[in-house]
Amino acid sequence: MIHNTIKHLPKIHRLTLGALAAILCIMLLWPNDGVRASRNVEVLELVPGVQYDVPMPSFGEDISFDPEQFKGEEYIRHLVRSGDTLGKILSSHGQSARVTHLVSHSGDEAKRLRKLRVGESLYLQIDASQTLTSIKYPISSTETLYLTRDEDSFISSIEQKPVESLITFAQGTISSSFWHAGVQAGLTDNKIMELASIFGWDIDFAQEIRSGDSFNMAFEELYVDGEFIGYGDIVAAEFVNQGDTFTAIQYSDGNYYTPEGRSMRKSFLRAPVNFRHVSSNFNPKRFHPVQKRIKPHRGVDYVAAVGTPVLAAGDGKVIKAAYDRFNGHHVFIQHGERYQTKYLHFKNRAVKRGDTVKQGQVIGYLGSTGMVTGAHLHYEFLVDGVHRNPRTVELPKAEPIDEKEKDKFLSLAQQTLTLLDNNKRIMLAMN
Ligand SMILES: [Zn+2]
Repeated sequence: MIHNTIKHLPKIHRLTLGALAAILCIMLLWPNDGVRASRNVEVLELVPGVQYDVPMPSFGEDISFDPEQFKGEEYIRHLVRSGDTLGKILSSHGQSARVTHLVSHSGDEAKRLRKLRVGESLYLQIDASQTLTSIKYPISSTETLYLTRDEDSFISSIEQKPVESLITFAQGTISSSFWHAGVQAGLTDNKIMELASIFGWDIDFAQEIRSGDSFNMAFEELYVDGEFIGYGDIVAAEFVNQGDTFTAIQYSDGNYYTPEGRSMRKSFLRAPVNFRHVSSNFNPKRFHPVQKRIKPHRGVDYVAAVGTPVLAAGDGKVIKAAYDRFNGHHVFIQHGERYQTKYLHFKNRAVKRGDTVKQGQVIGYLGSTGMVTGAHLHYEFLVDGVHRNPRTVELPKAEPIDEKEKDKFLSLAQQTLTLLDNNKRIMLAMN
């Protein structure tokens, strides 16, 4: 049971396609297991201007850990309580301060015991002569720290359990909102956010999602010792937006590419706000609420709560960050020679003139300053000084995958696409 060498078994990240084929067979045999159901969701129309209460995603891994799995071994379990320190715990089990010192100085890994958190468990092995012989400390569902007495010192080691990954599928058709369809398809908040971020350079999830849009995706389920511990990466996904199909495949570098091997990541995000916050739709012939006449509207308005972070659509330089009575607090960004983006009506600005900004960086907070009746972000996209629709404008081409990797990627892409198609057929057959 005691390990004094470090076992490092890497996560089995990709299944061979043979194994994937096997999973598909299993899914065909037991269609109610393993398949994350896609259902037609009820019609619930989005009303412009209404604030929708969507659940906020929780960040971090969907990993749960069950310390009970250590029951039945010859260790005494100590549940860490508020105010507990390693010294206190060991002392409560009859160990001297010297033992605490030996334990906490038995290598870099043992330093983790200095930051015990409430609710964690520490397992102690104490022999008949009251000598502490071993400590076991589960760090996560996959990692356990062991400290083993070796005469007058302790040797630390970390046991790493292999994580097995299986591929599961989800599919959905949007009738009310993307978030709703994601929940209906059985996706966690994190997976819905991940799916949107994979396509965030192609699709404006805040404004351009329509009833009838659909998605189909393959992602990992992670297991340790046969127990489900959480979800892994999305390995492939397809999104149909207003009739256009976008497909992304994850490569071994962790990045997503089109089936032709172009990066999904591009120079400009489609929307400078996170879709979770936005509740209204774009009306190209809107009646300007202040000036009481039809005004050519040269941008996109995102209606969301005051304080919603607004992101730089691309890397660039802030050429203006100011206030005036029409535009309120506003920020203009220059991207290379040809492109400019403008953001108006901020509650407050988060950058100043001359700043260099990165894509996705918060540049201000949505507000209602200037000539407006309600809080919104007014966003403009200019090419060579001319206003363009950010949805339809021709943008710089995305970077292709490294030439050396291309053949390998293309064959992976072909197989992954087949997998997604097969899933679509299975889902159709089930409905
Ligand atoms: Zn506007």
